[in-house]
Amino acid sequence: MAFPGQQDRRLTLALAKELRRTHGRHLDIVEVGNPVLRTQARPYHGQIGAPVFHKLLDAMRSTMLDAPGVGLAAPQIGLPFAFAVVEDHTSKELEGDPREFDEFPFHAIINPKYEPAGDRTASFYEGCLSVPGMEAVRRRWLDIVATWQDENGRSHEQKLHGWPARIFQHETDHLDGELYIDKCEIRSLSTDDNIDEYWDSPSPSDAAEAMGFKI
Ligand code: ZN
Repeated sequence: MAFPGQQDRRLTLALAKELRRTHGRHLDIVEVGNPVLRTQARPYHGQIGAPVFHKLLDAMRSTMLDAPGVGLAAPQIGLPFAFAVVEDHTSKELEGDPREFDEFPFHAIINPKYEPAGDRTASFYEGCLSVPGMEAVRRRWLDIVATWQDENGRSHEQKLHGWPARIFQHETDHLDGELYIDKCEIRSLSTDDNIDEYWDSPSPSDAAEAMGFKI
């Protein structure tokens, strides 16, 4: 299987050049204030030639893991297309944590969508590589039905729960020009250093009481 659309040759050549320059690693991550993060991403249908697209996804994965992060969306490297990479292995370290981490193997999620499955939500601190140094509490659906295409154009549908569901929602929202801070509990906003100093517990309930926000 493959993506059926027509390749944009100029875009493909420009990306190939950029990947050569960066040796396929360490792509620059754009930060909040850059309008690409506020743009509705275009559906991906094969605009990037397949060999370059696969190299780009590898480079996005390296960039995400080195940051370190658990997700990186195309607009975060300046590309207004609807795809992202996700990967999280936190479960091994933190079993029983209320955030409900779970093994989330690497996926390229292309044209992703999600629908809530049930009405349960969960509120926890999260951050974003495009809003460096900050975290805030964000309410998210606890369970979702996620749909996406993989790097070869095959369609997938999967129920996700807990932290993997949060990661999928965060990355998919990027493709609608949305950042997690848009709907966060604004009074929870905290630097990473202050999270470590004051709110280094999995539940944000102490922070909610002390700083005056609802969870
Ligand atoms: Zn983000």
